[in-house]
Amino acid sequence: MGAIETDYLVIGAGAAGMAFTDALIAASDAGVVMVDRRHGPGGHWHDAYPFVRLHGPSALYGVNSRRLGSDVIDQDGPNAGYYPRATAAEICAYYQRVLDEQLLPSGQVRFFGMSDYSAARDGHQFTSRLTGETTTIRVRKRVVDARYLEPSIPATHIPPFGIEPGARVIPVNDLVGLSSPPSGFTVLGSGKTAIDACLWLLGAGVPPEAIRWVRPRDPWLLDRAFQQPLQLLPRLIEGVSLYLEAAAQAEDRTDLFRRLEACGQLIRLDPGAEPTTFRCATVSQDELVSLRSIENVIRLGRVTRIGPDQIKLAAGSIPAGRGEVHVDCSAAGLRTKPARPVFSAGLITLQQIRACQPVFSAALTGYTEATRGDDARKNLICPANQYPDAAVDWIPLTCAAQRAEITWVTDPDVSAWMQRSRLNATCGMGDHRGDPLMDSALARLFTNIEPAISKLETLMAGIGGANAVR
Ligand SMILES: Cc1cc2nc3c(=O)[nH]c(=O)nc-3n(C[C@H](O)[C@H](O)[C@H](O)COP(=O)(O)OP(=O)(O)OC[C@H]3O[C@@H](n4cnc5c(N)ncnc54)[C@H](O)[C@@H]3O)c2cc1C
Repeated sequence: MGAIETDYLVIGAGAAGMAFTDALIAASDAGVVMVDRRHGPGGHWHDAYPFVRLHGPSALYGVNSRRLGSDVIDQDGPNAGYYPRATAAEICAYYQRVLDEQLLPSGQVRFFGMSDYSAARDGHQFTSRLTGETTTIRVRKRVVDARYLEPSIPATHIPPFGIEPGARVIPVNDLVGLSSPPSGFTVLGSGKTAIDACLWLLGAGVPPEAIRWVRPRDPWLLDRAFQQPLQLLPRLIEGVSLYLEAAAQAEDRTDLFRRLEACGQLIRLDPGAEPTTFRCATVSQDELVSLRSIENVIRLGRVTRIGPDQIKLAAGSIPAGRGEVHVDCSAAGLRTKPARPVFSAGLITLQQIRACQPVFSAALTGYTEATRGDDARKNLICPANQYPDAAVDWIPLTCAAQRAEITWVTDPDVSAWMQRSRLNATCGMGDHRGDPLMDSALARLFTNIEPAISKLETLMAGIGGANAVR
């Protein structure tokens, strides 16, 4: 059995572990050991379905010290007018370059792939999946849990319903492996994976009538137009100012969601169906039009069993149709695990801090660890914010995220770091001074942020589930 020592042991080299490590070593001379059971860095992207892309712009993804992609706005195609969104292959290649060309040559980072971490009786260890050799690790400073929010993805999840012999059910990854046209497609799931599957089928020429969409719960969605950084930042700030205004003026929860929809900050798939979930999924208006062309939507709750002739759901059953392919898109994606303090004795648990921006959150955590002394201050700068699930979770999520923004603005060092951080969606605000859209958005934002926080605190009363650690 081998033994090594390090300042930090980072368990998981996915997006979170990589962004944290990059930011930590940029601001300190700490030594880091990264352990991952996968062969290389990049986490879940190694098992992603082939047509997946980032849901947000590449300009805001990866690590702080290296650009991902070109940061040139797409001029044509389905993403025209927006910053490019990398494919899974591009993301995995990017992380490998970050590791090979930056982290390892820094002399501060050692990477052990194909290795399972486990807690040892009196410390930590990892075991190679190739040799079986176990190495113990003495950690001088902290263990960093970069797998707490490891998403549940289609390739590795087990369908939560029974499948009878003769039923044709495939994970979304296998859509590209079809060798002959099925009689139709039934897409199972309400989330971003199901949205991606429907858009891919439509984009590949499958007529909307050939798609049946089993959508147990309708989601609130974000509009991609308001998620763009750099040159398009004024629109993003306009979006923030509009949802803060909606929050400040809301009379109750129903009125809040009515206002958020009216100002374009939440959108629904079906004008006739009230959304009940919110999981940060993003679409463009063009994609929305395509998705609405699928009219055969089944709302009978979750699928419980698929047979050759019948699909059983929580609230009824429908014919399965022989020759139909059922596309399982029911993996949960983002994990809604309970928020816990990011910094605790000997441990850092990477979590979402700014709403729907896990990678920026991990980088901020790395910088804060490197530059601040006590855990109370660190947790104030990095308050954990649970991923949302139910629609009402928008309220505590936004409230905690806005409180954190105020903490950052009043800390000159954090503010300065944020203005250097490419992962920070609001980086480069100063470049837009004098832009009328930016100026009016900022005026609306400053007027509404404090009233919005206090109204959201009122509206939060009685909400279970997602809740920020305070
Ligand atoms: C389809 C999709 C699109 C997304 N698009 C965006 C986007 O556009 N913008 C954005 O900001 N976020 C996006 N996200 C979210 C973001 O990419 C990350 O998925 C999120 O932060 C989770 O990454 P992670 O590093 O926490 O988890 P992972 O990528 O799963 O990494 C965790 C790693 O830990 C390793 N591990 C776990 N347990 C052990 C163990 N015991 N021993 C060794 N290794 C272990 C795993 O092998 C894994 O590699 C998207 C997510 C999905 C699923």
